[in-house]
Parts: sequence; structure tokens; C-alpha cells
Amino acid sequence: MKLDMGVLSRACLIDILNKGVTKMATINCHVTVCSHNKSGVCYANCVDIVGSSALEDYDTCCSSFLNKLHYSELTNNTLGPGRCECLKCTVETCTFNNNNLCKLDNIQVSGEKVYYYTQTGCESFELGR
Ligand code: SF4
Ligand code: SF4
Repeated sequence: MKLDMGVLSRACLIDILNKGVTKMATINCHVTVCSHNKSGVCYANCVDIVGSSALEDYDTCCSSFLNKLHYSELTNNTLGPGRCECLKCTVETCTFNNNNLCKLDNIQVSGEKVYYYTQTGCESFELGR
């Protein structure tokens, strides 16, 4: 399911403000066919990692993926001066998840021969105990 990016962006910023979280993860990404990818870093306005009952990293995915074949390059992050600084994650089974935010300073998103967002994944996922 694709989420509305305007709603997501606002929700993400509100979450961050409400929870007092100022440090956000750098989103490194191997998915070079994504419109938001610039030199291996994500420049989307906001990224949403999903996979609510994930047991492995390949059960997760980046729902913000846009295929460059259809959307061309979209690396002008309109919410900030540079890379994406808005990360939401609904993967509650991940040990790094805290109220739909990620506790890590950096995450790695990956995917080979990606055409659909479901073919991406958060490599930094670790199953919580
Ligand atoms: S796949 Fe996701 S994390 Fe990677 S560049 Fe695209 S939107 Fe960003
Ligand atoms: S490391 Fe875990 S909490 Fe952080 S974005 Fe990836 S799946 Fe979500």
C-alpha cells in the first residue's frame, strides 16, 4: 500500500516533535533505480519502512520507493536542505523500533533488480527478543 506522502510527511514531523526526537537516521540505500537515490543516499522528503510482522529483513520494505523509469529523478528534499531526515518505521518486531521511529543513527536499505517497492528491504532490521 502506498501512503500519501503529504500526510506521511506531516505525520512524521508531528511524531518527531511530540516525542522530542531530534536525531534522525541517515538513510543509505543501494536501490539506485529509485527516484530518491543520489549516490547511495536517500533524498526523499520522508521515508516509510513497513513490514509489521517481519521476521527477517526481506519481510520489510521501503514503501517510499519510486521507480526512476516512471518518476525520473526526485532528489530535491523539500522538507530540508539535503538528505532525507524523516524516517518512519512500522516494523514493530525490529529491536531498533521505538514507537514507529528508528533508534539507529544509520540504516541501510537494499534490493536487487527492484521494480516494485516490495522488492526493497531494510538490511538493518534485527528481530527483537
Ligand atoms: S528505496 Fe526508499 S530509502 Fe532508497 S532511495 Fe528510495 S525512498 Fe529512499
Ligand atoms: S532498523 Fe528496524 S526500526 Fe530501523 S528502519 Fe530498519 S526495520 Fe525499522
